[in-house]
Amino acid sequence: MQTDIARLLLLYTGGTIGMMPSERGYTPVSGYLERQLEAMPQFHDKTMPRLTTPPSRFGKRIRYDVLEYAHPIDSAYMDVQDWVQIAHLIEQHYDAYDAFVILHGTDTMAYTASALSFMLEDLAKTVILTGSQIPLSQSSNDAIENLLGAMTLAGHYEIPEVCLFFRGHLYRGNRTQKVDAAGLQAFDSGNLPPLATTGTHIQVDWDLIRSVPRKPFRVQTITNRDVAAVRIFPGIRADALANFLKPPIQGLVLETYGSGNFPANRLDLMEVLRLATERGVVIVNCTQCHKGMVNSDYAAGSALYDVGVISGSDMTPEATLTKLAYLLSQDLPTDEIKQQMQRSLRGERSEPQNQTRFSFRERAFLDSVARTISSIASSDDKVHLERTLYPVLLCAASEIGDLEGIQRMLDDGADINARDYNGRTPLHVAAAAGQAHTVQLLLQHGASPLVADRSGRTPIDEAHLHQHPDVIALFK
Ligand code: ASP
Repeated sequence: MQTDIARLLLLYTGGTIGMMPSERGYTPVSGYLERQLEAMPQFHDKTMPRLTTPPSRFGKRIRYDVLEYAHPIDSAYMDVQDWVQIAHLIEQHYDAYDAFVILHGTDTMAYTASALSFMLEDLAKTVILTGSQIPLSQSSNDAIENLLGAMTLAGHYEIPEVCLFFRGHLYRGNRTQKVDAAGLQAFDSGNLPPLATTGTHIQVDWDLIRSVPRKPFRVQTITNRDVAAVRIFPGIRADALANFLKPPIQGLVLETYGSGNFPANRLDLMEVLRLATERGVVIVNCTQCHKGMVNSDYAAGSALYDVGVISGSDMTPEATLTKLAYLLSQDLPTDEIKQQMQRSLRGERSEPQNQTRFSFRERAFLDSVARTISSIASSDDKVHLERTLYPVLLCAASEIGDLEGIQRMLDDGADINARDYNGRTPLHVAAAAGQAHTVQLLLQHGASPLVADRSGRTPIDEAHLHQHPDVIALFK
């Protein structure tokens, strides 16, 4: 296996991971992290002139530079200008690196991840935030595991999103919340499964990962800080709520009970909300619960929509607050902001599913699409449809081992080595899924085991990565 190198920028903003004990408790220390990494064999191969990891089992090294905040901070000190600074640093170094890992304190990591996800528009590279609950300076820590995991994912996979990696789980950043003040499983993403998990092998859920944007990357900074969040509690005073909504506030995250319920019998509170929305304040209803979404199942919740509050669906308060700030920073009419709040911009909220969804994993669906294509008479349309759909359909059929479906598409002229939007061929997918019969069929029809996908991996690599000895044997 030839050794190739991924170029990674490691940005240290502060947080426990690089802290040292002091008289007043843990505090970040400039320069410590880089010195420490240089001395650790997992993070630096001493035979290499610059900070470079030893080769991974895919034969890939990660060459990285550490860029440290002039004064690394506890993330409790993070402010809007820090988010902007991080976004600009990524912008400045965007072309020079393949991926970015941001070391950050855990306390406000979910906010920074959410804010960055909006500010980094049309992001085509992997950005991962991580940190730790125990500093690297302590002999037993979670810092090594988290940093190594984040660097490995960033160095090997092209995941064009702002992610957060912690304790073996890669999450979409704007779906995360800190859920444990001390435990090592400090983060969770209540409404979206992890994008990837690491363990004996790495499992990436490609169906969840957003596709690479077509437009060029750009940074749209957050400049508006006229937003607030209020957690409703029994007995809340109307003037307390009114204070939160006073000018210059333009956006409010209203954290309500359960599935979006509010004390709608309190006319004084309802009046405060109505007056604010009439003034143009954008008020978004979010649940206080870590899992689930707001809906109009109860009268106690639906009354809010009558006074102009909008639904935050299953967005976290962190994502809702930063999304409001991001949209309010642009010169948009209030209606447009409300519309965008109710749409997914970066996968931060689930799209409404009022239509029956067909899964690419259903044989009947694959079959009916493939049959429709093959029955089209006009040759121009047919060629166009085949080119667009067959690669995706073949990959989907390969994942579920639909031999009949694959055979039919191949008989109809589908290209066996065509790639889907991740540059993966049907053989990549079948090898990763351990579909030995499918691998055999594809190889018999001339599928190439050596083509690399967008992350540089071949079908053979996939079989090794996912540990499918029967598939590996077929390749041999
Ligand atoms: N207070 C620390 C911070 O957020 C906690 C941590 O890093 O885990 O910076």
